[in-house]
Amino acid sequence: MSKVTFLSGVGTATGANFMVEKNGKRFLVDCGLIQGSETAFRDNHEPFSFNPDEVDVLLVTHAHMDHIGRIPKLVREGFRGVIYSTPQTRDLSAVMFDDAVGLIARESKETGKPPLYEEQDVAKALSLWRTHEYHSPFEFIPGLSAEFYDSGHILGSAMIKVSSGEKNFLFTGDLGNSPSPLLPDTEIISDVDYLITESVYGDRNHGSKDERDAHFLSVLRKGIAKGGVILIPAFSIERTQVILYKLNDFIEGGLIAKVPVCVDSPLASKVTAIYKNNTDLFKEGVRKDIADGDDIFAFPGLTFIRTMEESRALDNNNGAKIILAGSGMSMGGRVVRHEKTYLSNPNATVVMVGYQVPGSLGRHIEEGEGVVVIEGEHVRIHATIEKIDGFSSHKDSDHIVEFISHMKDRVKKVFVAMGEPKSSIFLTQRLRGELSIDALYPERGSSVEIDF
Ligand SMILES: [Zn+2]
Repeated sequence: MSKVTFLSGVGTATGANFMVEKNGKRFLVDCGLIQGSETAFRDNHEPFSFNPDEVDVLLVTHAHMDHIGRIPKLVREGFRGVIYSTPQTRDLSAVMFDDAVGLIARESKETGKPPLYEEQDVAKALSLWRTHEYHSPFEFIPGLSAEFYDSGHILGSAMIKVSSGEKNFLFTGDLGNSPSPLLPDTEIISDVDYLITESVYGDRNHGSKDERDAHFLSVLRKGIAKGGVILIPAFSIERTQVILYKLNDFIEGGLIAKVPVCVDSPLASKVTAIYKNNTDLFKEGVRKDIADGDDIFAFPGLTFIRTMEESRALDNNNGAKIILAGSGMSMGGRVVRHEKTYLSNPNATVVMVGYQVPGSLGRHIEEGEGVVVIEGEHVRIHATIEKIDGFSSHKDSDHIVEFISHMKDRVKKVFVAMGEPKSSIFLTQRLRGELSIDALYPERGSSVEIDF
């Protein structure tokens, strides 16, 4: 028997953090930042409800902040166990932490509260980190082994199968929206006894990918024809690389004019370099293009902007150009300065390619408000605002059900987590009704005894 506790990451898509206790040993899966909600700041600063010193192992699914963002805090509060992930998740986590430390230090100055963590906590966390490739099972606690499977969500993202004797407990992390432009499809796993699944899109489906690409192409053509800037707020991991891959196709295929394309995000540039070093993990068709000599992250007109001076030089508005910048929801980062410059320009186009959380500047812009406040200044929107659906890197409701259907003859219990309540509850009901699975939507902080 063992006990699983849903520390956080239930009733919300963010803050993934689960604990399993067995034979007096404890391991965690993910230790993410809680994001978006009004109580997020307070929740993240609250001490952990357990003693981090008494945790033996942390398994990490992937390098998004809502899965890794509190790892240095865990170390700061006494964790001295071993952290395991794929090599790519470790490398991406290192650049994400490096970026976060600066933001946290600024936040600490503004609020007068002690920082969530500092550079030395990040260094300590990385020193505790060990990596394993996909499909290389390893024993992490006597009697318990783990194996990483490709979830196809972002580079290095893993589903983690933990085995105890003949029994298997699968943690999905986030599940990719397969087929993804760059990454292989989510692997199918059927020998699962217990499952914790994500459910971000548990209650809705994405539109067709062909329509998405056609819409994106027509938006770019119109924007280029106007002769102004096309500004694309983009997440640093996966979204930036997917958009670059699409632009590479459009430009080299002659589908749009050869306009300058600038990636104005130091973080996204570092992440793209890690993607470039791991093209062997891309899907087969993309690997073939690369083998045939197409450097998919280098095409005519593409530049990676580094310094603030170079970034400011993009303000000289002479002709059409495409600027990709972070953050993806315009909550800080260089994109905010570009929005301040270009939103009032009728020749400019802002293209939303990702989810915008309510309350974010990105959401205000997306909802077509006439005036937005940026850094205390009122900016009247005259630019064209476009929204492209379907670039999500999460499986939709139908595809999560399809993914879990492969386990239905064996699985004893499915815990539906990592989604807003209405998404998780809807998916729980679908799993019960359509697959006759014992699915449960756990409450935050609750524990369940399982035969594992
Ligand atoms: Zn994710």
